[in-house]
Parts: sequence; C-alpha cells; structure tokens
Amino acid sequence: MDSYQLVVIGAGPGGYVAAIRAAQLGLKVACVDRWIGKDGQPSLGGTCLNVGCIPSKALLDSSEQVHRAEHQFQAHGITVGEVRVDLATMIGRKDKIVKQLTGGISGLFKKNKVTFLAGSATLQGEGRITVTDHDGNATDVTAEHIVIATGSSPVDIRVASVDNHQIVDNSGALEFSEVPKRLGVIGAGVIGLELGSVWKRLGAEVTVLEALPDFLAAADHQVARDAAKILKGQGLDIRLGARVTATEASPEGVTVSYSTDEGDQQIEVDKLIVAVGRRPNTEGLGADKVDLKLDDRGFIEVGEGFQTSLAGVYAIGDVVAGPMLAHRASEDGVAIAELIAGQSAHVDYDLVPWVIYTWPEIAWVGKTEQALKAEGVNYRAGSFPFAANGRAHAMEEGQGFVKVLSDAESDRILGVHMIGPSVSEMISEAVVAMEFAASAEDLARTIHAHPTLSEALHEAALAVDKRALHI
Ligand code: FAD
Ligand code: AMP
Repeated sequence: MDSYQLVVIGAGPGGYVAAIRAAQLGLKVACVDRWIGKDGQPSLGGTCLNVGCIPSKALLDSSEQVHRAEHQFQAHGITVGEVRVDLATMIGRKDKIVKQLTGGISGLFKKNKVTFLAGSATLQGEGRITVTDHDGNATDVTAEHIVIATGSSPVDIRVASVDNHQIVDNSGALEFSEVPKRLGVIGAGVIGLELGSVWKRLGAEVTVLEALPDFLAAADHQVARDAAKILKGQGLDIRLGARVTATEASPEGVTVSYSTDEGDQQIEVDKLIVAVGRRPNTEGLGADKVDLKLDDRGFIEVGEGFQTSLAGVYAIGDVVAGPMLAHRASEDGVAIAELIAGQSAHVDYDLVPWVIYTWPEIAWVGKTEQALKAEGVNYRAGSFPFAANGRAHAMEEGQGFVKVLSDAESDRILGVHMIGPSVSEMISEAVVAMEFAASAEDLARTIHAHPTLSEALHEAALAVDKRALHI
C-alpha cells in the first residue's frame, strides 16, 4: 500500500494549490481527483478550470468583443461589415484554453513531484483512503495528513430539473450549439448574471428570474442600484421577487411558471439556465462511516487551522462554509499546507475580494456602506465617477464609480466598492492597502500613473476628505 505524508482529495484551486505548496515544503504528496474532461480523460483544476472561472471568462471575453464590434467601433471611426458569430469556433477557443490550463496543472504536478491519482476517494478512517479509478478498480493508500478539497456542485431545484438539453446548469450553459432565441436564467447571482450577459451579447433575449426582492443584496447598495440600471439598459430583463414554481419542457421550448407579489406568471423560453447556488461535494466521501461532521447545510465543519472532527483530516475551499471563490480556496490551500509543514499561516476572510465579471465589472472588498450603518460605525465615504476619469473617456468607458469607506476617527479603510471598466484588476490595490491597514489618506498620497483607471480610486480616496481634484 502506498503511503504519503499528505493526500489531498480534489484538484480544484484549493486542492491543487495545497498539493503544490506542500510539495514545495518537502512533503511526499498525492492528489486524488475524479473529474473527467470533455475528451473523456481525467482533467485537473476542478470546477474553476473545467466549467467555472476560466471557461466563463473565455466566453465573456469573446462576447465582449462581439459587443464592441457591434456597438463601440463606430465611435472610434471604425466601420466593419456585418458582425457574424461562428459559435463553434468561439466554444472551441474556450475548450482549447481549458485544455491548456488543465494540462498546465499536470505539468506543475510533475515539476513538483506531486503524485496524481485519478479516481474517487473515500475516507476509511485512521489515515486510510480508497481510490476507485474510472474502471472501478479500488486501491488503498495511507496518509499522515488528509486535506479534503472536494469543492461544490450546482444546486438542483425540483421545480427546474436539469436535463442538460433544454434546462441546463452552469456546465451546459457553456456548451450551447446555437444561440438560443429566448433564454431564461433562474437566479440573479454572480453565475446567472455572467452567463446571462454572455448569451445576451450573442443575441439571445434574456429574462432573469430572481426570488429575492433586492438585486445583488451582498453588494454595496449604491453599486447594486447602478448595476441594475446598467444591466437592464443593456437589455437584460431582470425580474426581482420572482420565485420559479414549475417548469415544463416540450419540443417547442420550456414554460417557466413563477410567482410574484402580483400573482402567478409564465414565460416561454428555448433554453433555461439554473443558477441558484452551489452545494458542497461530500457524497461518496464516506463522511457518515468515519463520522466526519457536517453542518446543517452539508458543509464540512472545521475549527481552527481547517481541522475537521477527525484527527489529521482538514477541509478547505468550497466544501467549507464561506465565500465560494477560487482565490479563497487557493489561499486556504497555501495556509493548510504551511500549517501541516509546521509553519504558521492565516487567511483573513474579511479581505477576500469579490468580483462579478459583467461589463462594466463589479468588485469590492471589506464592508459595504449598509453594513457599516447597521453596525453603527462612524465612517466617511468618498466616491469618484469614471465619467470624470481621462483614461475611461479615452476608452469610451465612462460608466460606474469607485467608493472608498474609511473610519471617521482613524481614517483606516473599511471597504472599497467599484463598478466600472476592468475593476477586477483595480480591486487588488484596495486589497493590498487594506492588508497593510492603510488609511484613505495613504491612498490619497500615493502617486498613481496618469492616465489610468486607478486614478478613480485615488480620487475616491481624496474625496473621503472632500478634496477630489477632478470633480
Ligand atoms: P472545485 O474547484 O469544485 O474542485 C473540487 C474537485 O474535487 C473537483 O475536481 C471534483 O471532481 C473533485 N472531487 C470531489 N469529490 C471527490 C472525491 N470524492 N474524490 C476525488 N475527487 C473529488 N470563482 C472565482 O473566484 N472567480 C470566478 O470568476 C468564478 N467564476 C465561476 C463561474 C462559474 C460558472 C462557476 C460554476 C464557478 C465560478 N467560481 C468562480 C467559483 C469557483 O469555481 C469555486 O469557488 C472554486 O472552483 C472552488 O475550488 P475548490 O478547490 O474548493 O473546489
Ligand atoms: P448565488 O447563490 O449567488 O449563485 O445566487 C443564486 C440566486 O438564485 C439567489 O439569489 C437565489 O435567491 C436565487 N434563487 C434560488 N431559488 C430560486 C427560485 N426558485 N426562483 C428564482 N430565484 C431563485
């Protein structure tokens, strides 16, 4: 029986990063993963690389190019003929990127001497794991330490059962062979809005049904209001307070029934994307048998240092309650590897940046203004619109704004909220500033290159002290 110092279960951004970092620190490491790619072969990288972050961004980028060619080139004095989309090539480009990046993880495993075991892992207790490969052959391995990084899967709701033909989850929504004329999306969360935006730009009429009455309730309310206005202006038909109660698929399409305060309604669509959240992957792990404790929503319970209810067994990433984001999973992965190797490590969940890759993009870190109000914190706010930013003008991208919130007494930055062009890149400056406990004044006194979009953050920091220069 092969023995390892560490066996990681799951090779998503949590698991593969934990495996590589532990190997860097000199541990003998194996990583087990059951994912099978589109080509029928094992594929590393988990949800993020195979059907999540990367393929969705590939299609977001392609569809943004289409939108620019159709709507923005003219302002630059560029005339193109009719813009036509070859969807097979677009999807093929996305698949090539996925193949390159998942293959890249295999390369990194080889470079770092991480042993990859293809198959499903089941915990047997006392450091023993059974790996069942894709032909059904079972092999046992032992480990001094086990990290569970099994991630999450889409939530399936009874009223809209996924058939991956007409009613699809996030994986199916990346694989349409033609642009649906009428597309329904259940759930106005990050995934629903991103995938809805892709197909809207490619020509679908998109209706988004969201059960909650508020749009993007987790975001700063001012950003959420702007986002709703802009996305609706782009033609996304977002219906709030709309709870889907039934669906019926027929050769003509899908009838979606939903209820609102005004009563029961129906829409007819050709395809329906179900994007109502994600649930932790614990089935098949053997949690019951070894008494691995789960919380009431099925996430693995962890204490200090990612410790589960079992000695020597840790859990990280989406399978543990908290932000279901790739960079959170990876930071967990680095931290657990360092803890196992005897170092000290810590992840500050208050400083996890959030990004929604619609266009304009939405990004934030730290507290929202409504949270500060609810907590009775005395704060100051400074905002700056991209409409007053030179670089944004040069790019024809004047929508959105940046807001900095800081403590009224100490001036320490408590939150930064952005909606605008490429704010997914800009948010990192705010994260660094907050990691170093910067004040708004620190940002205000930092030289920002001109002309850049980040000058909007500089100006918002100046605006906290009511001394913005360009507004
Ligand atoms: P996962 O990536 O889910 O990986 C878990 C792995 O474990 C999988 O490969 C699975 O097959 C394997 N596994 C599970 N059980 C077993 C078992 N018993 N034995 C062996 N292997 C097992 N996050 C972002 O930060 N930015 C984004 O832009 C973003 N976009 C997204 C877009 C979409 C459409 C989706 C669906 C998600 C997106 N996410 C994004 C979320 C992100 O993908 C997840 O937060 C991230 O993948 C979680 O990483 P993880 O390592 O915890 O789990
Ligand atoms: P997220 O968890 O960010 O992926 O968002 C999923 C969204 O789907 C949440 O905002 C839920 O309110 C929404 N949702 C869940 N069930 C339904 C339903 N039956 N009808 C409409 N929206 C739903």
